[in-house]
Amino acid sequence: MQSGIDKLMTVLKRTEKNYDFDKIKKAYYFAEKCHDGQFRFSGEPYITHPLAVAQIAAGLSLDTDSICAALLHDTVEDCDVTLDVIKSNFGDDIASLVDGLTKLVQIDVEDKEEAHIENLRKMLLAMAKDIRVIFIKLCDRLHNMRTLNVKNDEKRRSTALETMYVYAPLAHRLGIQRIKQELENLALLYLDPIGYHEVEKHIASKYSESQDFINKAKKEISEKLTENGIKFAVAGRVKSIYSIYRKMYNQNKTFDEIYDFYAMRIIVDTELECYTVLGIIHEMFNSMPGRFKDYISTPKPNLYRSLHTTVIGRDGIPFEVQIRTWEMHEVAQYGVAAHWKYKSGEGSGKDIDEKLAWIANLIENESETRDPDEFMGAFKIDIFQDETFVFSPKGDVFALPSGSNAIDFAYAVHTQVGNQMVGAKVNGNIVPIDKVLQTGDIVEVITSNASKGPSRDWLKIAATSTAKNKIRQWFKKEARPENINVGRDEVERELNKYNRPYTEEQKDEIVLAVAQRIGIQDIDDLYNTIGYGGITITKLSAKLRDEFDRTVKVEEQNVPMTAEDVKITKQKRSTNGGVVIDGVDGCQVKFAHCCSPVPGDQVIGFITKGFGISVHKADCPNIINAMKNPENRDRFVSAYWDNEELHSPSGAFEASIKIHAGNSLSLIADITFALADMRVQLLQINSNSKADDLVIVNLTVNCRNTEHLNSIIARLRQIKSVERVSRG
Ligand code: MN
Repeated sequence: MQSGIDKLMTVLKRTEKNYDFDKIKKAYYFAEKCHDGQFRFSGEPYITHPLAVAQIAAGLSLDTDSICAALLHDTVEDCDVTLDVIKSNFGDDIASLVDGLTKLVQIDVEDKEEAHIENLRKMLLAMAKDIRVIFIKLCDRLHNMRTLNVKNDEKRRSTALETMYVYAPLAHRLGIQRIKQELENLALLYLDPIGYHEVEKHIASKYSESQDFINKAKKEISEKLTENGIKFAVAGRVKSIYSIYRKMYNQNKTFDEIYDFYAMRIIVDTELECYTVLGIIHEMFNSMPGRFKDYISTPKPNLYRSLHTTVIGRDGIPFEVQIRTWEMHEVAQYGVAAHWKYKSGEGSGKDIDEKLAWIANLIENESETRDPDEFMGAFKIDIFQDETFVFSPKGDVFALPSGSNAIDFAYAVHTQVGNQMVGAKVNGNIVPIDKVLQTGDIVEVITSNASKGPSRDWLKIAATSTAKNKIRQWFKKEARPENINVGRDEVERELNKYNRPYTEEQKDEIVLAVAQRIGIQDIDDLYNTIGYGGITITKLSAKLRDEFDRTVKVEEQNVPMTAEDVKITKQKRSTNGGVVIDGVDGCQVKFAHCCSPVPGDQVIGFITKGFGISVHKADCPNIINAMKNPENRDRFVSAYWDNEELHSPSGAFEASIKIHAGNSLSLIADITFALADMRVQLLQINSNSKADDLVIVNLTVNCRNTEHLNSIIARLRQIKSVERVSRG
C-alpha cells in the first residue's frame, strides 16, 4: 500500500505540472513531525487531514506554495510551532499563507440575516489577503465536511450551517462548481438528513429509469451531431441532491414535478460550434419557452459560460442541455483556479460579485499570453481595501469604510450606543477612540448612562458620514444654547480675520444677511446650525466676507499698518552702530530706550522729528501704537542688523531686563554678583516692592546680541528667590 506522501506525489505527477516535489516532501515531513501523536476524532493520525487537503488542492491546480501551506495549515494552530519557524524553514510566502489560514476564524451564522452573512463572506475574503488562502480553506472545509460524521450533533450542525451559508457560496462565486456541489450536498446531509435521504431515495428508485433515459438521449444526440460532422463529447447526469432538494422546497413541488432532474452536457471545440449544436438540439426536440440562457455572450459574474436550454425528450420528459467548449468546461469545474496568472492590483465596484468578476476578467484577459503550465499563484485580495470588517463582542460583523474608528463603530451599532459612548476596547484593550480599526478587530464600546452625550470633537474624528450625521442630530436636539455660543465664536473668529473694527450692530446685520442668503430667518438659528456642525464656517466665509465688506466700509486712514507694510523701496543704505537703515545716508541712528533692541532682534527704523532715526524692536508697543496713526505712515524705514555685527559684535548694546522676585535680603547682591560673574556691565538698577512678598527689579545691562542677552536672562533665572525674568 502507498504511504500518504506517495499518494500525494502520484496525484501531483498526474497533473503534469511542474511542482517542486522536494519542497512539498519537506513540508509533509515537517507537518508529520509536528502532528506526531495527534489524532483526529476518527482515531486516524492527524497528518491524514492536511494530506487530504493538499490532495484536494492539487485537484484545483494550486501552486507548490499552496500545496505546502495546505500540508502545514494546522501546524501553527494545533502544534507548538511559531510562524517564525515556518518562515525560516519555508520562506515568507508559505508563512503568510499559513498565517492567513490560521487567522480565518470560525464564525457563527445561526439566526443571522442575509446581509450579515454577506458581511461574513466579505470579511473572510478581506482577512485572507491572498485568494489562495480562500482556495486552501475551501479544500480544508471540504475534507472536514467529508469527515464530519464523527463529530457530535452540535458541531455537525454549526459546521454545516457555516458551510452552507458561507463556504459553498464562496466556492460558487469563485466558480468552483465541483467543490460547491459537494459542500452543499454534505451540508444538507447534516442540516436536513430526512430531506436529504428522501431525495436520495427518489433518485435511487429511479436509477435504472434514469440511466435508460440518459442513455437514450445520449445516443440520439450523438448520432445527430456525428451526422453534422461535429467533434464533441456528451455526458448525462441526474442533478445534484441539493439542487433537486432546493427546487422541491423552494417551489413547493413534489419530486415528480421537478423537470430539470436530468441534465445533458455537450462539449465542443469552438464557440461557433456551441451555437450550431444549439440549433441542432432545438431541431431535434421541442424547447421549453423561457428556459434558454446564453451565458456565452453574457457570462455569469463568476466567469461561468455555457448555453443552457431545456427541451422535452421523446417520452415527454424535459431535460436541460448545457453546451460549452472545453475551455468553458474547465472554468466551470475549477473556476478562477482554472486560469490563473500572477497579478496583484485592486478591484473596483461595490458588490462582492462585481469584485470577484473583476478578478475573473483580469485572468480572462491574460488568457492570450497564458502559459498552459502556469499555476494559480499569489493573488492579493485587496479588493476590499475600502472596507473594514470588525466584530462586536457578540460576534456580529460590521462592515465599515476603511479608516473608521470606535466612534463610527458605535454609531453603526446603534445611535444610543454612540451617544452614550465613554470609551472603547479593541481586542480587549482600552484604546483611544480615534484609533483606526482593522479587519478582524473585536470592538467593544464602553457606554455610560451618565454620559452627557457625544463630544463636539467627534465631528472631526468620526470617519463616516453616518456617525457625523448622528452626532450633529444630537447636538441639534440637545444643545441649542451651547451651539449658539460655539457658532457665535466661530463667526467672530472669522470676522476678526478681516482686520477691521466692527460694532455689535454691524455684526448682527452681517450675520442676519448671511443667514437669509441661505434660507435661515434668525441669527441664533444660524449660530445653532454652525454650532452643531450643520454647516461649516468655511462654507460661509465667502458670504461673510461679502456682507462684511458691504457693511463695514473701508476707511483708508483707519487701516492700521503693520511692520510688513514697511517695504524696502530705496537703494541707498546707511550703517550705523551695527544697524543698516534703508534709503537713508549718513543719518544719526540711536537705539530706542523703550525697547532697547540688541543684535538679533527684529528691528524697524522710525524717523524722528529732528533727532535722526530711532531703532525699535519690531514688536515694541510704542511702534505698534505709532503705526495706528496714519500721519506716521511715511516715517517708518526698514532696518536690519549688519551681518558682521550680528556674528562678531564689537559694540555693546543696552538692554533692559525686568525681574519679578520674592522679597529677599540678598536679592540685589545676588543679581550684581551673577552679572559680575558673567562679566556683564550693569548700567542701571532699581527695585521697588509691590507687596510684602514681591519685588520688581528693573535693570539695564550692556550685551552683545540676543543670544548673549538670553544667556544673561537664563543665568538670572537661577537666582533662588527669582520668579520671572523678561526683557523690560
Ligand atoms: Mn484543517
